[in-house]
Formats: sequence, structure tokens, C-alpha cells
Amino acid sequence: MQFIDLRKAELGAGFTVGRALPTRERRMIGAWCFLDHLGPVDLRNHDGMHVQAHPHTCLQTFTWMIEGEILHRDSLGSEQLVKPGQVNLMTAGRGIAHTEDSLPGERLHAAQLWIALPAKYAEVQPAFDHYPQLPQWSRNNIEMTLLAGEFQSVVAPTRVYSPLVEPGGEALHMSLSEGTRCLLIGGEPFPSRISMWWNFVGHTREYIYQAYQDWQSDSDRFPPVPGASIKLPSPPPPASFSAS
Ligand code: MN
Repeated sequence: MQFIDLRKAELGAGFTVGRALPTRERRMIGAWCFLDHLGPVDLRNHDGMHVQAHPHTCLQTFTWMIEGEILHRDSLGSEQLVKPGQVNLMTAGRGIAHTEDSLPGERLHAAQLWIALPAKYAEVQPAFDHYPQLPQWSRNNIEMTLLAGEFQSVVAPTRVYSPLVEPGGEALHMSLSEGTRCLLIGGEPFPSRISMWWNFVGHTREYIYQAYQDWQSDSDRFPPVPGASIKLPSPPPPASFSAS
């Protein structure tokens, strides 16, 4: 059993999130390589979350909305609102850019995770999928929603590239107070070591350095996000990333 304390991370414009992955103690859980807990934030005296255009590579961003609404726009031209209970899944593949803006409301509460792409899918075409409904059932007074993968003969429609929830896993015993919400993630150990820098994931450091250069030089690997006027600059990777 391992307990990981959330660390505070800044998303920009004073919006902080609790980050559970990656940490020194645990880099990944299966293909899941990043887990941010957003909120809950009272939006009545807060500007909300506004993340300007930024790129991703070799991963999927997985946004599960609990309260409030976030508008997603990306360089494919997608524009999609994600509402409570729904999932937005963006497959970066070889490269994509997006913006995320919370809409005015009472509260904002969500989880955003990244799923690393296995090496053979690293260069897959970028894609965006919205899942307005996911399989739901209830058992022993517990409401269950399957966000991805398979669980007990239920299959989620979510487009994923790795086994994320394994059948026949060990039992998990938890004592929870009423109204508790749990996000259970799993998956087969990721077959290779990945590198991460800023918003880039890659299987080699050179790949990430190239992605950094492509973003900074406005390469057509990352087309503009319609309607976005500001591009977030990437901090330069350490010198060891450029060694070839
Ligand atoms: Mn993003």
C-alpha cells in the first residue's frame, strides 16, 4: 500500500491543482502518467481555469467532469463543452495543440489525466473524442461509472491504446464515508520508460527536444488553435534532452 500526497501545481493565472502523478514515489500507473485534481473551486469569486494554447505529443488527455463545464478547442478545429459525468479524450499522437476554459458557474471540479501512448502508437493521427455518456450501474448502494477499458463484462467506448483496467485484479478494501467519490485507475505495467517535459511525452529525450523546437518555431506539426491568440511558450528542456 502506498499513499501519495497531492502536490500543488500552478496551471497559470493563479489556478492551482492537486497533482498525484507523476511523483518521485510513483511515475506511472499502467499507461496513466499524469493525474491532476481540479478543484472543487467556488467560481463565484474566482476567474476559473483558462489554459492558453499549448501542445501535447505521444499521449491522450482524459478529462472527467464532476461539476461545472470546460470548453475545449484544438488545432483540429474541434470545439466541445464537457459537462458533469462526461469525458473529453484528446489523442495527441504526433502533435496537437489545445485551449481549455471553464465557463462561469457555481463550482468547478474535474480530474484530468494523461495516458501515455505505447511506442507503436506514438505517431498516430491526432484525434478528439467526446463521450456524453458512459456505462453506469449501481451495486450495494455504490454508483459506478466505467470511464475506460473493461470491468466485469462491461466495456467502455473510450478510444484507448493500452489495457487500462484489468479483469481479475486483487480485491481492494476501503472504508468510505457516505458521498465519497473514488477514481480507480489501473493497467498493465507500461512496457517502456517514457520521458516527460512540460506538456510533452515521448519515448526518447531527442523526440521531446524536437517537439519543443517544433512548438517554439511555429512548425505545422502544431497548427494554430482557432480563436486562440496566445501561445504558451515551452520552458527549454535540460541540455541532456538535445544530446544525440
Ligand atoms: Mn493540455
